[in-house]
Amino acid sequence: MTSADTTAVHAGRDDLAAQGLVIPPIDLSSTYPLHDIDRGGESYENLTHGGDLVAGESPVYLRLWNPTVARFEKALATLEHADGAVAFASGMAAITAVLQAAVAAGTPHIVAVRPLYGGTDSLLSAGFLGTRVTWTTADRVAEALEPDTGLVYIETPANPTMDLVDIAAVVARAGDVAVAVDSTFATPILQNPIDLGASLVVHSATKYIGGHSDVVAGVVAAQGDWLARLRTLRVLTGAVLHPEAGYLLHRGLQTLPVRIRAAQDGARRVAAWLADQPEVTEVFHPEAPGRDPQGLLGTQMRGPGAMVSFALAGGYAQAAQVASGVRLIQHAVSLGSTESLIQHPAAVTHRPVPPESRPAASVLRLSVGLEDPDDLIADLTRALRP
Ligand SMILES: *Cc1c(COP(=O)(O)O)cnc(C)c1O
Repeated sequence: MTSADTTAVHAGRDDLAAQGLVIPPIDLSSTYPLHDIDRGGESYENLTHGGDLVAGESPVYLRLWNPTVARFEKALATLEHADGAVAFASGMAAITAVLQAAVAAGTPHIVAVRPLYGGTDSLLSAGFLGTRVTWTTADRVAEALEPDTGLVYIETPANPTMDLVDIAAVVARAGDVAVAVDSTFATPILQNPIDLGASLVVHSATKYIGGHSDVVAGVVAAQGDWLARLRTLRVLTGAVLHPEAGYLLHRGLQTLPVRIRAAQDGARRVAAWLADQPEVTEVFHPEAPGRDPQGLLGTQMRGPGAMVSFALAGGYAQAAQVASGVRLIQHAVSLGSTESLIQHPAAVTHRPVPPESRPAASVLRLSVGLEDPDDLIADLTRALRP
């Protein structure tokens, strides 16, 4: 099999050379000429029922199909070893579609393992979409299943603890029920949940896949029947990705392996330094001592990634001091970009999570970017000891 580095550069681009192009065009048409009533109607029927565009037929309308977005989807699906991928207007739109697909199939009960992204946690807890949720732990998934369970939903590495969930073990415990994995923190460069039996892989493409803090997007890599259901839902709910965003994500994939490796190296340095600081009581990084009790690094996950959380002896007050004291690192939510970002999960991103499940007030989450790690360490030193 071609290496992921090579796939990342070339996937989703095989139709370009024949058109005399190296770089994919951004197709901004909201509507497309129809050949005639019958062929136009057939293409409409096909696309609204989740089919792939048939070569030579009209895409009809941007909400049904867009070639620029479709190239990105093909590339992402290839990297995830999935049958296909469906891009959405945001990560939350992608997660919404996954839950709606379970409801539409008549199986609205969701088994979910905490911790999850704060937005996902709220969406499930609120039950807006007609889902019913049972919260459990990864080892008790089998006990939580009910006759109308449509989905087991997990996130690994989890946010903000970087706990790793054993995907293959959860798949085994879920039996016939599909497992969806939010793999945003890992990206297809560090893990491929489909290879471990997951049916759906969700990414907030806003993060590493876009990689430059200039796109909001989501994508679901999916197996079998899920693809058509997700495409149909996207057509009907209208949660489409704009073609310019599709272009940027496809471009982002080309450098994803290199960015992940460089940021991961920087994060290892920063995590090791943090572990030696007297002000730091705990470092949450998959390679930190005791943080990978199941031995999933090197098997499920090819590397620890570039996210590091840490707890401060001085609690909330010291966390607030560091968050507002950094100068190079930016105090902002989101992650996975070229620039390093720091934020306080308990007060900001995990605010909607019930207090008993919320991260500790002493914890900060750092997304290590592509700066020289020595400069990041100098910035953290200044913020810790002003
Ligand atoms: C950001 C994020 C989301 C939500 O994605 P948006 O693009 O912000 O809608 C979901 N899951 C994880 C793990 C995230 O980090």
